[in-house]
Amino acid sequence: MRTRSYCVLLPSRFLVFLTGAVLAVAAEADEKPGYTDTPMLPDSEWRVHDRERPQPPSVTPGATAADPPSDAIVLFDGTNLDAWEGGTAEAIEDGAFNIVKTSGLTTKQKFGDCQLHIEWATPAEADGNAMNWGNSGVFFQGLYELQVIESRACHIYADGIAGSIYGQVPPLVNPCREPGQWQSFDAVFLAPKFEGDQLVEPARMTVFYNGVLVLYHAKVLGATRHKTLPSYSVPAETGPLVLQQHHSAVRFRNIWVRPLTLDQ
Ligand code: MG
Repeated sequence: MRTRSYCVLLPSRFLVFLTGAVLAVAAEADEKPGYTDTPMLPDSEWRVHDRERPQPPSVTPGATAADPPSDAIVLFDGTNLDAWEGGTAEAIEDGAFNIVKTSGLTTKQKFGDCQLHIEWATPAEADGNAMNWGNSGVFFQGLYELQVIESRACHIYADGIAGSIYGQVPPLVNPCREPGQWQSFDAVFLAPKFEGDQLVEPARMTVFYNGVLVLYHAKVLGATRHKTLPSYSVPAETGPLVLQQHHSAVRFRNIWVRPLTLDQ
């Protein structure tokens, strides 16, 4: 096969010839990059720049950070509630559903460690007292509540406002928008770990609320309770996501989840 030679004059003193040598470069590229003689990383089966270390799976991101990436499980895209137990299509309007019309919703699928994106809006006008206006919540494993409630004016105690682990941990800051506006949670939930019935690692939550970090690896003390101490009464490492119905017309849209495999 005939190969052509190209001569490229660079601004400085360099002269580069691209010839059949290109083929040799291509052959080198077939070899895995990396090394076999570098130090072992601590607590790892891999070396620094290990040639044999597998590449992570490719994921196509969403068009924006709010859109589901290619490996997400879409729980609600505005068209149906097929991923959930309960709820009917009549509750969907303008790509969102009203939790009073659906009643509480539980995913058909169970999740352990996961990344969740969810968007919600409290009613623009009060539809209940301070404890009720905009009250809903995202329950990981059906047990551990990330609170949703109208919190622009902080009507409720600190560990009960939106972005709190209800009754346990207030958010670091309060980035709540005006009532009626769309808001978002991007959460990483780490499931509790058990040996038999014995808790060995509590659950953890990291949450970005409207893009603002409000919980960082916050320890979950147990299943959500009201006016009493939480505890780990259910030794389960997976469970459904549950959206709370608390008699306020909270709307939800654009919900997706990515189960996480964190041991690597
Ligand atoms: Mg709630």
